Amino acid sequence: MRRKLTAVISVLVLCGVLLESASCGRGSAGTKEFVITENGQARSTIVMSKTPTEAEMFAVMELQYYIRIASGVLLPLKTDDQKPGGNIIAVGQNRYNKNSKLGFKELAPEGFRIKRSGRILSLVGADDAGTAFAVYEFLEKYLGIRWLWPGELGEVIPKNKTIAAGAVDLTQEPDFIWRDRGPGGALWGAATGPTEMHERELLLGVTREHQKQVELWEKRNKWGGLKIYGGHCLGEIFPPEKYGKTHPEYFALIKGEREIPGPDYDYKHRGQICTTNPDVVKVAVEWARDFFDKNPEYDGIHMTLNDGVGFCECANCMALDTGELINRPGIDAEEMKKQPGKYRIITDRAFTFMNQVAEELQKTHPGKYVMCMAYSRYTNPPKNIKPHKYVIPQYCLWSAYAHANPEEKAKHEEIAAGWAAMSDKMGIYEYFINGSWPGLHRLAPYRFAESIKWLYGRGITLYQTQSGDEFAINGLNYYVAGKLLWDTSLDEQQILDDFYATGFGSAADAIKRFHNRLIKAWDREIAKDKKVACYSMKDTRLLEYLTPGLFEQCYADLAEAQKLADDDLIRQRVEFYRKGLRYTQLMARATEASRKIVDKIHKDKNDAFGLVRFLADKENEQLVKEALAAWSERDTYADELKNDYVLAYFWVRYNSLTRYRFYVVNYLENMLKLFNTEGLTVKSAH
Ligand SMILES: [Zn+2]
Repeated sequence: MRRKLTAVISVLVLCGVLLESASCGRGSAGTKEFVITENGQARSTIVMSKTPTEAEMFAVMELQYYIRIASGVLLPLKTDDQKPGGNIIAVGQNRYNKNSKLGFKELAPEGFRIKRSGRILSLVGADDAGTAFAVYEFLEKYLGIRWLWPGELGEVIPKNKTIAAGAVDLTQEPDFIWRDRGPGGALWGAATGPTEMHERELLLGVTREHQKQVELWEKRNKWGGLKIYGGHCLGEIFPPEKYGKTHPEYFALIKGEREIPGPDYDYKHRGQICTTNPDVVKVAVEWARDFFDKNPEYDGIHMTLNDGVGFCECANCMALDTGELINRPGIDAEEMKKQPGKYRIITDRAFTFMNQVAEELQKTHPGKYVMCMAYSRYTNPPKNIKPHKYVIPQYCLWSAYAHANPEEKAKHEEIAAGWAAMSDKMGIYEYFINGSWPGLHRLAPYRFAESIKWLYGRGITLYQTQSGDEFAINGLNYYVAGKLLWDTSLDEQQILDDFYATGFGSAADAIKRFHNRLIKAWDREIAKDKKVACYSMKDTRLLEYLTPGLFEQCYADLAEAQKLADDDLIRQRVEFYRKGLRYTQLMARATEASRKIVDKIHKDKNDAFGLVRFLADKENEQLVKEALAAWSERDTYADELKNDYVLAYFWVRYNSLTRYRFYVVNYLENMLKLFNTEGLTVKSAH
């Protein structure tokens, strides 16, 4: 049985190589093949311009490299003023591609053409990105190559001494014009070092080579598109050290006073501005102009207000608001009345500001975009204005990972549709990862797929997701989303089946079952209650999802996959997933050990002395030690794997510093100190 399956797969690979259904299975049916390599001999020459761009040269090297690995043949490389031998694979803009009727210049940015005319095979894009994508598409579609995850282990390269193509004619343009993985803006408090994610990773010991491989993986899977700078950006545009003393009026008026950020400012939270002050608009426009002068390759910039609240309460700013207050359960009417500024909806005011900046910016930098998140108190669409043609709202809490919950889904769709209806261009912000869910299994590829198609149907074509490098954990999300953002007409089930078949061969079914088990478990938990987060010691709903039973079944799936695997590469890929599962399990165990302590302290809800009693019993010290050991094991494990694409190291550490581990481990460490404090008179307090 296993042998038969392998045979079927290799026939499929061969068909992929020999190209297009016409020639597959029936030998060469009419079309004379375009032979690239034959029995380990070169039959083609790769040709590029004699003045190639750097990106074209890189695309050529990628093509040459992968054909060599697949066939063992290093194809000769010539520039278009030299005489090539055999067939010609013309990459990028050069003499061979210029005169043909390829029409690639009329394509949308990043679009490309792959076309064979006689003895010339053209791989050419509307721009450099398009040319690179032409090469990757060719390698994927016609050589059967896949980049399942970054690094060599994730590369699938079918080996064939003969590589040939039939009638090739393919034109593609991206469905989403922005397909972005990872936040660009500040995440971490500036006080603790660099705030930009990639800078920070380097400081934590993630290597540049690791980052390079991730970037390459993104490119090979056609992530990319527009270049848009920043996120919450007021810290950059209105630094308090520059304007705090000279222009306090630029900053938000709160309870009658201008709120100038102090020394603890992280440049991302608070530090809001008075958006109706005309000079504030001027400063923002000048900053944007300066940015685009220095960085002309960018298409847009974020002007999103800072995170956290503290918005201006001056009469001019408030006059632009509709007067509505946010509708959030848990805040009572009295509280709202006491601090109306805190709860006002400010979308109209925020986007009036964005519109003014965009309008001015167009005068000097036509075509450049201003992006602003639809977020916080400006989540819902405005009532009295519409976004300027060059303002892109980016709906922030799209969160399709929670769309197994129908109420959440309906709410998100209503907000997104509202914005889309009034905006020329619109984007969303997704969370494949975030601090409250630091790279544990959160597999929802079908939800992401459904949501991407829904968004595209509403004309929403900018997509950005917070992301990490946890490819052994949530890699399927990234893989499926990348493919669909490029081409929403693809079928997610086919993408997944192809992923399993090409990457895992004889073990495909077991790996599929492993993933489906995790996908279903996540959906089931979300359907009950969307908040499966891990913020604090008391918030341990992840234990309801990540049960010992689930781990046991997942390990069994992987063990079966190991047994079925018929080559070493597949065995290593299965082991890759086992490492990811192990990380999630260590996190769950550390949480469980901590939870035991909380349960003991809060046994009786009305007992104010729970902690005192807990500390009085010296035997409990062992529980605290065990919990700390579990956290330490998780941390050591994460450190060992930080460069292996298994886990999201940045997010593990971000979470450690800012959220879950911060509250839990610090608490436990302090508790341990109390056990060992001489003369602690806990008993007398009882
Ligand atoms: Zn104001």
